[in-house]
Amino acid sequence: MLLALLLAAELSKAIPLGPVPAAASGAAGSIDPVAATRAYLDTLPSDKRERSNAYFEGGYWLHLWSFLWSAGVLLLLLYSGLSARMRDRAGRAGRFSSAVYWLQFLVATALLELPLSIYRDWYREHQYGLSNLTFAAWLGEEGKGLLISAVFGSLAVMALYAVVRRLPRTWWIWGTVVAIAFLIFGVLIGPVVISPIFNNPRRLEDQRVVAPILSLARASGIKAGEVWEIDASKQTTRVSANVSGFLGTERITLNDNLLNRCSLPEIEAVMGHEMGHYVLGHIPLLIVQFGVVIAIGFGLVSYLFDRFRMRWSIRDVGDLAGLPLALLLFSAYLFVLTPVLNSIIRAQENSADVFGVNAARQPDGFAQVTLKLSEYRKLEPGPLEEIVFYDHPSGRTRIMTAMRWKAEHPETWSH
Ligand SMILES: [Zn+2]
Repeated sequence: MLLALLLAAELSKAIPLGPVPAAASGAAGSIDPVAATRAYLDTLPSDKRERSNAYFEGGYWLHLWSFLWSAGVLLLLLYSGLSARMRDRAGRAGRFSSAVYWLQFLVATALLELPLSIYRDWYREHQYGLSNLTFAAWLGEEGKGLLISAVFGSLAVMALYAVVRRLPRTWWIWGTVVAIAFLIFGVLIGPVVISPIFNNPRRLEDQRVVAPILSLARASGIKAGEVWEIDASKQTTRVSANVSGFLGTERITLNDNLLNRCSLPEIEAVMGHEMGHYVLGHIPLLIVQFGVVIAIGFGLVSYLFDRFRMRWSIRDVGDLAGLPLALLLFSAYLFVLTPVLNSIIRAQENSADVFGVNAARQPDGFAQVTLKLSEYRKLEPGPLEEIVFYDHPSGRTRIMTAMRWKAEHPETWSH
């Protein structure tokens, strides 16, 4: 009884669903999904829309500048002879020379890329009101990231160069196997080892949402303990959620911005989407897809490396001094592949949307939380723009998914 009263008191504080535009309400006896989508999109005030467009479109250029900047850094390491000197110094470490080279390389590239990352990841995020980190706290987070790269990067570079040296002609095949093994390891330890370094993830405790969310999870065959919440507001103001983990560490995590800023129908809509990723097995699927991307990329590096290496007197592909060249070729390949990589992920996101709206049955919650996501993702791109730059469906596409569903389910709105 007391518990029920407490629960009722908590629920009364809950945020109500925002107003549903007339065209999306079904008041006319039917819903035209296109008109309903338009009506929702038009609720976003023009100043917010301009800000969202500016933030997201600026990201297109930043993607290009980030690639060019890091390409410049890698070329500098090659042309200045710094990479060869780091290799010579590492050579004295015998068996651990690959790791010692990697640590020097990591520090050099982190320092040379620092100005751009300060602008992109700290200054600009504050400019758009998306970050909650002071500069010192941001630097601390970067430092943690660097330490993680030092540990796992060293292991990966040691393993990859061991393969390259033993199998100089077929390394790209076996290197792919090694890279996939590290990818799986990274995904597996992500939620249980990496995430707690930055945040405090815990099982979902928010009483306003526990019961309906866990019911939704059970209905989709997801064990209750696999729904978590995280204090993402430490770093960001973004509303988000994700699915992470592999081989027993899988979990769905809702961030506290979502829990604090959204109504229950919105939270359920997001949860439905995340359950889609979970039930449709998107993480193992992504590992396979990225495995193919890595294999083609390593094949290209293997083919092109010898054509470029003479310029910097790199002995062969097994020479550590050539790591910047290998990375330059691989990152150029990934950069060119941007639309393909985005489309691989966007296709999964779209199927999670369709699954989610069916599971949660909250089309208006989904439309309204999509509008909140417009704080960091432009709502209405051109068709080509969406294919090239979007790793999630645009706001327009997502609201359309929700309104299409709603139009076909009059039992949810007609009386
Ligand atoms: Zn998703």
